[in-house]
Amino acid sequence: MTKEYGGVVNELVAGEWKHPGTGQRVSVDIRSIVIKETLDGMEGELVYPLHKNEKLAVVSDRYTYEVLGRRIGSALRSAGFAIEEIIWKTPHAAIESVEELRHLTRHSDGLIAVGSGTINDSVKYASFLDKKTYSVFPTSPQLAYGTPTASISFAGFKKSIAARPAQGVFFDLSVISQCPIRLTRSAFADLICRTTAQVDWLMSHLLFGTQYRKLPYFLLAYDEDGLFDHAQALQEEDFEAFGILVRMCALMGLAICITNTSHPGSMGEHMMSHYIDMFFNDLNPNTLHGEQVGVTSLTMSRLQNRILSQDIPPVLEPTEIRESAMIARYGNEIGQQCITELKNKALDRMQADRINRYLSENWQRFAEQLRAVMLPAERLWEAMQAIGAIRTGCDLGLPKAFYQEVVLYSREVRDRFTMLDMAADSGMLEAFAEECR
Ligand SMILES: [Zn+2]
Repeated sequence: MTKEYGGVVNELVAGEWKHPGTGQRVSVDIRSIVIKETLDGMEGELVYPLHKNEKLAVVSDRYTYEVLGRRIGSALRSAGFAIEEIIWKTPHAAIESVEELRHLTRHSDGLIAVGSGTINDSVKYASFLDKKTYSVFPTSPQLAYGTPTASISFAGFKKSIAARPAQGVFFDLSVISQCPIRLTRSAFADLICRTTAQVDWLMSHLLFGTQYRKLPYFLLAYDEDGLFDHAQALQEEDFEAFGILVRMCALMGLAICITNTSHPGSMGEHMMSHYIDMFFNDLNPNTLHGEQVGVTSLTMSRLQNRILSQDIPPVLEPTEIRESAMIARYGNEIGQQCITELKNKALDRMQADRINRYLSENWQRFAEQLRAVMLPAERLWEAMQAIGAIRTGCDLGLPKAFYQEVVLYSREVRDRFTMLDMAADSGMLEAFAEECR
């Protein structure tokens, strides 16, 4: 018997998991998620309940065809499916390529993606546009399988666009554990930002009453310690470690699906990554999303730990919006967008006074609530070291001056209030940015 790693994911998919806070059962849109040491020989029975009587297009690229696509194709054929194998030569998560994929799969009723990243996003979006169903056999760990959105470029701009999650997600650990280590590190880093995102999201809720959900964090808490403790083992194709990593990827995706917002895993650290995407890609297009998020999470964690360990609260001033400097920095079009984003969360005199009053009366309790969901920055640093991941902007290939710019200005690209705003509005951010590299 091949070992099974579904754990709480199985309970969720079966509709049996109960929210610890409310006692209510929680349901998810995905019909089947399977995480096993190997799925060799059971592909047909996994796919059958979700796609019976459908003519299937099995979509791989040249790489994923060799590692898994060929096997899936022949297994589904043996199981009696009418299939068409598509080895996509020029995969791109861009709308033009999605159109090409829609054309290539025009004779099929359902799609089976074999791969991660581009393959999964493109198949997810193509099947959404064509009102077809899809399932996926990932070839590396990633968060995007369970999410209802696809990451697709339109005229060169990457957008997270509404689609539908997969019907079935089938993780074969014997394949995933063989993926390039960069992809494993990248997925790992995109999960450990749980702590920085939660601190930011909860802080926004405490200060402004914005919506906040505990559910994602109940789910992620099952495995987070195990993930950190197995960081090193992830360099060694250890099934136990990959079982945890993949389960947490699935849980983060499901959490985003259930809460219908990216907030649980995307706050200040993701704004910084987004800033790098927007303004550095010409110089260095090859960094992975998770590599960026790993570096920026370490920076955010240091900032959060520093502010929340102070005995006295920071004192906020109304948010300064230097419009002409922003236009000079970003150009007119992006500059105007950033000005709008910043204005949405900018503090005026009255709000700054209200928050200062609140913080001076409640600082210990406020900081304590956030510290309860925060990890020490060293814990993140050491786990990232154990998996051999990139930890500084410098190692990511970013000049020091640019990384300091990321720390200083990335809060301008999105209207979510984070610790970057707290630091900026209290006059601390410049000195903090000076230390970053
Ligand atoms: Zn991410």
